[in-house]
Amino acid sequence: MNPVIPDEIVERAYEGKTTKKDVLFLLEVPPFELFELADRLRQETVGDTVTYVVNRNINFTNICVGTCGFCAFRSDQGYVMDIPQILEKVKEAHSLGATEVCIQGGLLPDVNIGFYTDIIRSVKRDFPHLHIHAFSPMEVYHAAMQSDISIDEAILRLQEAGLDTMPGTAAEILSDRVRSIICPSKLKTSEWADVITKAHKAGIKTTATIMYGHIETVEERIDHIILIRDIQKRTGGFLEFVPLTFMPYNNRVGDEMIKMGRYATSGMDDLKLYALSRIILNTHISNIQASWVKLGKKLAQVSLHCGVNDLGGTLMEERISSSAGSTNGQFMSAQELEWFIVSSGRKPVQRNTTYTPVTSSDPTSRIKPRVA
Ligand code: SF4
Repeated sequence: MNPVIPDEIVERAYEGKTTKKDVLFLLEVPPFELFELADRLRQETVGDTVTYVVNRNINFTNICVGTCGFCAFRSDQGYVMDIPQILEKVKEAHSLGATEVCIQGGLLPDVNIGFYTDIIRSVKRDFPHLHIHAFSPMEVYHAAMQSDISIDEAILRLQEAGLDTMPGTAAEILSDRVRSIICPSKLKTSEWADVITKAHKAGIKTTATIMYGHIETVEERIDHIILIRDIQKRTGGFLEFVPLTFMPYNNRVGDEMIKMGRYATSGMDDLKLYALSRIILNTHISNIQASWVKLGKKLAQVSLHCGVNDLGGTLMEERISSSAGSTNGQFMSAQELEWFIVSSGRKPVQRNTTYTPVTSSDPTSRIKPRVA
């Protein structure tokens, strides 16, 4: 029997040269052929290790001048944490063995760069060994605009304050057609790429994300991942790629889809996207992360056989997906994460934000409690 996937497409995948045409072909092959190719590439790149990070999300405000139609987190009667409240959350995370705090929030109308640098400086002062992963490209852009300074200057000030890495969120779908419908006041595709590129050039590594399963076409998804690959070729600054399935509840875009009988993605769509991400990004980005909050624990476990090698964080306090209808929990203990990695036939390894294993010889960062 002839192989379902032609040799030249497999070769290009191994060489990191998958084309858009290849991806369109791969979308038509039996799904388990696609998963098998992604799984082989994962095995060759990272072996059988599945990583996770012990971290805490701190969403310091849900008040926002943004108008994103997919957002269920924003609220006009919302909260703003002050620095002592943020530090209290950090202290709790630190005492539970977190190696990272991920700090993001809405876009407050009356803040400037000093607001953001004060948060970073305060956390670094009290917890110098904790990794600060903070502020999306949209927040950096907002801070720069509010302060009438350049993006480079905003990044420099955040870096001087102690920012370690940045989340590559606010990417949604990197297509201005899609953005003009789902997030018209958010930064444009070229502006997102500009902030990310400038961060990488300043030595700040970032993650990369895609939020899929709403109004975008399949081709727009593929173009998005290929754009991420192009940026990575120039900068080498992405640590991981994180597909995030759209959560359709409690938001305008989701309401309109549900009226038309659409409920975001099927599990099969999700697994195919993970597999395609591994294939398109092979040799460029080693780490493909599944979000157990979005997928649910069992589908996240299956994704480990479709190209995924990282399960993200324990999170401790996830608010953004849960406000949009996720019922998969806001915290998973390291013990449970390790259990479901092992029961998937893989080897769990706790990592830090930059993918260095956290070992017992590093007592400042090794997780202590192993249970919730
Ligand atoms: S997604 Fe972010 S920027 Fe957009 S409205 Fe929600 S909080 Fe604001």
